[in-house]
Amino acid sequence: MKQKSFLIKPEMNKRYKKITHGRGVYLFDENGKAYLDGSSGAITVNLGHNVNEIKKAINAQANKVSFVYRSQFTTNESEQLASKINGLFSFDEDFYSFFVNSGSEATETAIKMAIQYWQDRNKPTKQFILSRWFSYHGITRGALSLSGYRKRRERFEATLEKSPQLEAPYCYRCPFQLSYPKCNVRCAYELDTVIHKMGSTHIAAFIAEPIVGAAGAALTPPKEYYSIISAICEKHQILFIADEVMTGIGRTGDFLAIDHWQVKPDIIILGKGLGAGFTSIAAACISESLYSTLAKNSGFIMSGHTYSANPQSTATAFAVLEYIENEQLLKQVQKKGEYLMTKLTKLLKPFDIVGDIRGKGLLIGVELVEERSTKKMFPRQNKVLETLLQIAEEEGLLLYPAQAGNGVRGDAFLIAPPYIISYSEMNLLLRKIVKTLERLSSPDKKEEED
Ligand code: PMP
Repeated sequence: MKQKSFLIKPEMNKRYKKITHGRGVYLFDENGKAYLDGSSGAITVNLGHNVNEIKKAINAQANKVSFVYRSQFTTNESEQLASKINGLFSFDEDFYSFFVNSGSEATETAIKMAIQYWQDRNKPTKQFILSRWFSYHGITRGALSLSGYRKRRERFEATLEKSPQLEAPYCYRCPFQLSYPKCNVRCAYELDTVIHKMGSTHIAAFIAEPIVGAAGAALTPPKEYYSIISAICEKHQILFIADEVMTGIGRTGDFLAIDHWQVKPDIIILGKGLGAGFTSIAAACISESLYSTLAKNSGFIMSGHTYSANPQSTATAFAVLEYIENEQLLKQVQKKGEYLMTKLTKLLKPFDIVGDIRGKGLLIGVELVEERSTKKMFPRQNKVLETLLQIAEEEGLLLYPAQAGNGVRGDAFLIAPPYIISYSEMNLLLRKIVKTLERLSSPDKKEEED
């Protein structure tokens, strides 16, 4: 069959294997080769592949109604999903969900919510959104404008809004050349400095991924970081948007990653794991106080997409959340995350090219360096990460590329298997990573063993 679907570059279609089916933590290609899905696709397939309970819910909804237009009707399915999300949040205030189809759309919606909120509060000059380097909030141009992901920005730079202003909480390579705890969390107080420079009258919100995902390979800030951020935002009347597209829905062991810091954002965006690969759905969730201001004044949010809140997707996402609760997966993520982290720290120690291992729950980042003692990065043209991913794939293991180092594109990757991974599958994943690193460190390894 002649290939017509356009993936990244036409010639890359030749490189891609065709996947025919999946089950649990495995994907199978047309030649029957099994791949252990060590990154849950794009940190999305949190329940694994081909889950009976979700398939049943999808079928049941298809037998009722799959689509109604959100400007004409609401449905039990979308109302139930919004209530469920609110119930799973740990805050002392209710949150309202606006459903869209992708993380990028959820970021766009959050930006609009923040700007509209200040318009409704008679502060229409508050339009600017602050963000950090080493961040990814989406590929659409509004979301890309906020993203400190140089490689994805560079071709469109002139068309984007102002670039991010803040340094990331990147302790392994502190942008201020300080070290924790002596640094007094300078990276958090930087927000105050930037706001003073720009003037809070122009700033609507600050957006951050609580734990930076692909743009920083699981950068995890110190324990004080978000309470400082939250207090600065409050002091200057700036909203705090938590981008939980990758970290939300239990990925780090709590329902939201921000729960680890016990801070309440004003807007929370969810994606990826909400549909868990069974449907495309995302959400921008706003606190009751913002919601009531918007409801009383604007009366609506100037956003929305044809498929927003369609019952097929909302019923599917509801089934995903029920499954997580019924199977008590959050507890499992905590335990399995600790297990993987402990084992990785021990098993990867002998490899001098492993510079840092970080993260929480089942979101673990590994940063590679030429030399551990100096943290020197590999020259980009060596394509170390690409080679590593290729070897891992040959070994039947899928990992996720991430940005680190100098920010152009360091050599780092994410390990983020589905929550349902068993201990024996985790041990297999660990053996495959060790084998991959052995082959990367001494390229003759494969031939020796073949
Ligand atoms: N925010 C974060 C933190 C993400 O990781 C991503 C996707 N990698 C997005 C936003 C954008 O989501 P989507 O690809 O669904 O548009």
